[in-house]
Amino acid sequence: MRNGSATSWCTIHRDRISRNLDLARGLVPDGRTFCAVLKADAYGHGIAQVVPLIREQGVETVGITSNAEAHAVRDAGFDGTLIRLRAATLQEIEGALDDRVEEQVTSVTTARQLRALMDAGKLRTGVHLALNAAGMSRDALEISSADGQNTCHKILATLGTEIHGICSHFPSNEPAHLRQSADQFQRHTAWVFENSDLKRSETLVHVGSSLTLISDVDVATDMYRCGAILYGILRPDLGFRPTMDLEARIVSLQDYPQGMTVGYDRACRLDRNCRLACISIGYENGFRRVAHESSAVAIRDTLAPVLGKISMNAIVADVTGIKDIAVGDTVGVFGEGDVTSILPETAETQFRTIMADLYTDWGQRNHRVYR
Ligand SMILES: *Cc1c(COP(=O)(O)O)cnc(C)c1O
Repeated sequence: MRNGSATSWCTIHRDRISRNLDLARGLVPDGRTFCAVLKADAYGHGIAQVVPLIREQGVETVGITSNAEAHAVRDAGFDGTLIRLRAATLQEIEGALDDRVEEQVTSVTTARQLRALMDAGKLRTGVHLALNAAGMSRDALEISSADGQNTCHKILATLGTEIHGICSHFPSNEPAHLRQSADQFQRHTAWVFENSDLKRSETLVHVGSSLTLISDVDVATDMYRCGAILYGILRPDLGFRPTMDLEARIVSLQDYPQGMTVGYDRACRLDRNCRLACISIGYENGFRRVAHESSAVAIRDTLAPVLGKISMNAIVADVTGIKDIAVGDTVGVFGEGDVTSILPETAETQFRTIMADLYTDWGQRNHRVYR
């Protein structure tokens, strides 16, 4: 991507990822296991750099989505269990055989394809039956209907004990929703055990992500699949810290008189004489065009308001009265700065979305520097 002269960049704090991982694993109740979710290139942090950190702590299971991610995880030396976190096409399944990806099965067609690959000696891992019980209605099998149960019978007959896991995914971790989804998943899992030769003791039953792990609701699961928590998105009070900074530079400082408009569509007008800084980041780098009017960036010990519409390659901040600044100075868009921080809660309000969305976007759109 961009080289050392990058105009905006993400600094990735590997030490904090390790610390967050350690803290998260400490929250896992005895007898249950932890799966590190590294989809979306480890939430924008870079799989190749994150895998060594999870290997150091002996994490045995990793979750991914695409074949490229599976390959990157293997390439980085991980030889534990690799599970795919959504349904896959036959083409994808075939493309991931060498990387020993444990697939989800949610239809009779996929069950037959997986069976054929097993019979041909090409697929040598178990698979996971994905149930919709928790209510995502995305790709998993709904077995509350007779049709769904019929499909499930066929899948079970086709794959038998090659089914090593039964899983689901919660759409909401709000306590009442979580209890309801968890009960439904337990009922549906029980139905599968009653209607198959699968043994509970030999089957990994897994549901629950970062929010489930920090919830007060105790959900029955053999394994937590966690992504967000590794990157300091949640619970700073428990010691979790954000793992990415997004920064850019001041490229111009100019004085403009009261009454002048700023940016496209003349959407902003100066109500006094101002000193404005042009900063080397725009929506091409993930400083989103939907940014709230009250957005600000960190310059020295000040939060400088961002004025006018966001350009593709630049933003403008009001730096009137901020002393000792110069072209070339670093500007904080997100992260724990040396003096001024912009933390997840603020960023989520400012960019009107969740941190996972921002991290994955920023990590792809900016040069990454590792610390
Ligand atoms: C992304 C994902 C997770 C991890 O979710 P976080 O909230 O980031 O911990 C777990 N399970 C599935 C199926 C997912 O897609």
